Amino acid sequence: MKRVFRTLIKTSILPLVALCTSYTTLAQEFSQAELDTVAKVREHARHSELSWQLVESLTTEVGPRLPGTENDKMAVAWAKKKFQQLGFDKVWLEPSKFPEWRRYHESGFILTPSKQPLHLTALGNSVSTPKAGLSGEVVMFETFDELIAAPADSLKGKIAFINYRMNRDIDGNGYGPAVKARNKGAVEAAKKGAIAYMMRSVSTSHHRFAHTGGSHYTKGVSKIPTTAVANPDADQLARLIALGKPVKVELNIQTEDLGEGTSYNVIGEITGSKYPEQYVLLGSHLDSWDLGTGALDDGAGVALTMAAAKHIADHTRPERSIRVVLFAAEELGLWGAKAYFKHYQDRLDNIVAAAESDFGADVVYAFESNVNAASLPAVREIAKQLKPLGIKYIRKNAARGGPDLIPFKQMTSAPIFDLHQVGTDYFDYHHTADDTLDKVDPDKLKQNTAAYAVFALMAANAETAMAGK
Ligand SMILES: [Zn+2]
Repeated sequence: MKRVFRTLIKTSILPLVALCTSYTTLAQEFSQAELDTVAKVREHARHSELSWQLVESLTTEVGPRLPGTENDKMAVAWAKKKFQQLGFDKVWLEPSKFPEWRRYHESGFILTPSKQPLHLTALGNSVSTPKAGLSGEVVMFETFDELIAAPADSLKGKIAFINYRMNRDIDGNGYGPAVKARNKGAVEAAKKGAIAYMMRSVSTSHHRFAHTGGSHYTKGVSKIPTTAVANPDADQLARLIALGKPVKVELNIQTEDLGEGTSYNVIGEITGSKYPEQYVLLGSHLDSWDLGTGALDDGAGVALTMAAAKHIADHTRPERSIRVVLFAAEELGLWGAKAYFKHYQDRLDNIVAAAESDFGADVVYAFESNVNAASLPAVREIAKQLKPLGIKYIRKNAARGGPDLIPFKQMTSAPIFDLHQVGTDYFDYHHTADDTLDKVDPDKLKQNTAAYAVFALMAANAETAMAGK
């Protein structure tokens, strides 16, 4: 557009006044001084160790952060203190209720045709087996739909097993189709009479780390233990079953349902100079599963969103506020996010842009918005400033946002942004014991931090307040 206007100015075909009006509207989302500051923040962030120091501190000093545990409380205190030490203008906690659950023991064996250990993990919310465990013959299905189609009572006394393989994909698009079997597999298996449920891990790993994750029961359907086996173990089961003889396994799962618990969203804000009530929301989640140390999911997101805001505050005061929200109990069902957006339901218009980092720590390769047409000139300017970080601009304007933004999107026309990360390897580690700090590449984390800093500062300073569609 701009080039067209410049050409028109040179040839002076149209009335000059009209030209200037249109041209300046397009050119004025950011002043040159603001763009200079953006460049400074970007260069500072891409060389700073701060996000690495934060993720190292969280995953080392606190470690795993299952909601409601002592570690979760430590994480809340850690985050509050870090926000204060980093000099955020306002730091506060907001409570969130969630169903509290603990894992105490999990083990499994193939019993026949020969005894072999089975690497498995209980899915979140799973009930226990009897203390001495339970055993039964395995009935294998290739897909969740195949289990649903199984005849009534066909699994009486048996252990249902879905061997669906998740596809590897840069955007993690294999996760959705695979995760159906995790959410509701135990319910469908119990309806057919199964005494326990096993699934192939929702994972692309070839290691023997089983993938945990949320699962749900349905009222009126008996609750049976629900587990995921590591992918090599799923292959082993499939080979044994293909031999045609009964394959019997033993499971021992000990967990506890503790009823309703409380955790906290931890929030840090850099207050805007001109429109303090309006803000850019940078999200991530503070909780993690209990098996690893939650470095990729979501320690990296916590660290880089905190660091991004701090880098901005070191260079300038944004015109709108930048609010970093570390959501509670995401893994057990987005409980912190539901509480947050409900609490602010009458003031959601104050959010001019929202993005969540919850997809590991690999590089950001693309930027995408989901905003109204009036916001697009500013979006294009942001995209230009992200380009030096190797980030391309996806013009579809159909960003979906991270999981904690789902309640926001359901309540209003939310101005959502995606800083798309490379996720090709993410599901090799996600929700497993192998999600540890060594999987975070410090240089890639810096690039992420710089991207979030550029995005947040520009969204906070755009002349036109951005809004959803
Ligand atoms: Zn996550």
